[in-house]
Amino acid sequence: MATLISSLPERYIQNDTRPSLVGLSREALADMLGRIGVPEKQRRMRANQLWHWIYHKGVTSFAAMSNVSKDLRAKLDEAFQIARPEIVTEQQSNDGTRKWLLRLAPDERGQRHEIECVYIPEEDRGTLCISSQVGCTLTCTFCHTGTQTLVRNLTAEEIVGQLMLARDRIKDWPDDLAANPQPPSSGRYITNVVLMGMGEPLYNFDHVKEAMEIASDGEGLSLSKRRITLSTSGVVPEIGRAGDEIGTMLAISLHGTTDEIRNKLVPLNKKYPIAELLDACRNYPGVSNARRITFEYVMLKDVNDSLADAKRLVKLLEGIPAKVNLIPFNPWPGTQYECSDWETIEAFAEVLNRAGYASPVRTPRGRDIMAACGQLKSESQRLRAKERAAAQASLA
Ligand code: SAH
Ligand code: SF4
Repeated sequence: MATLISSLPERYIQNDTRPSLVGLSREALADMLGRIGVPEKQRRMRANQLWHWIYHKGVTSFAAMSNVSKDLRAKLDEAFQIARPEIVTEQQSNDGTRKWLLRLAPDERGQRHEIECVYIPEEDRGTLCISSQVGCTLTCTFCHTGTQTLVRNLTAEEIVGQLMLARDRIKDWPDDLAANPQPPSSGRYITNVVLMGMGEPLYNFDHVKEAMEIASDGEGLSLSKRRITLSTSGVVPEIGRAGDEIGTMLAISLHGTTDEIRNKLVPLNKKYPIAELLDACRNYPGVSNARRITFEYVMLKDVNDSLADAKRLVKLLEGIPAKVNLIPFNPWPGTQYECSDWETIEAFAEVLNRAGYASPVRTPRGRDIMAACGQLKSESQRLRAKERAAAQASLA
């Protein structure tokens, strides 16, 4: 049975208007220290101390910062907080997948939006799937997130905040792991991060870049950029820049092998057709056989799953160091698509394998809690509506 955990520690229920220090660069942290009167020549050292406590230790209060003077801790506490997004619900799937529905701090219009974040444990690794936007401006026809009209970019704080909150909940900070009698064999639970939640990361370039700098900083969250994958639907002009400036692994949501099919599935293809997209991939900075690009391909019955498609895909990828990730379509209420049959997926994979492409089929994870690819967000609103109805009924 999937479980829904709704009683959570007090600290996630926030109505706190103090600015958060999460998501700032070291320089910006030093500037913040200047605001509360820390002399200039001490700021760098103090910023490094804060960095260590916030991102290495994962503390959520200034009181825990034992090598910072009491006086400064009090000043910090008065002026700032070390925030996490508020958890609305936390669900755990039969297969161990965990999904959080998170409520963000109010934006400039006072609105509090919600996003989702999913943790997928596997035998030798654990992957955290994070969001880069509330909703998505693009309208891929097979994606649930694409049906949402409400969109805003997440701040760097909100992007990093998902990782920090997941570490809190999974007990994945170094001190937690040291005290864990059975720590994971991979050393920590969250070994990989994928920007495959809600939103198009390359439409929120600057904040994603800032957040990935923080996530990969060796004195803090310490996730190697080779273990972070940015997935894009194909924003061609930003792909080269992403390689140069963000430097993570790249995944491309391809899904179609002709412009005609891809125009229907990923309407952005009308602006940046397949040939241009694949050229950008060939020129992706740092691409090599050791650093392959992942091509994601959602398997849609009778739409893009024929053997002719598989052969065209092999041809398209010629000369690109590539892996293919076949994703069984995850249905959502109201969708016009169905997932391909298992035999069709196997036959498709076989064509790719024979051509020398590793093409694992992504096992759907967390479907029972609507945490699988493309199922995020709207379903949770439905669940919450149902929960609200149940709560009201119990009051009546
Ligand atoms: N916007 C980015 C990243 C988020 S989507 C992108 O499109 O790449 C992450 C992956 O999930 C993409 O490959 C997307 O195409 C896929 N996806 C979306 N809806 C899906 C669904 N219903 N079933 C399976 N995969 C889906
Ligand atoms: Fe947006 Fe990606 Fe969904 Fe397309 S697949 S609508 S780009 S989140």
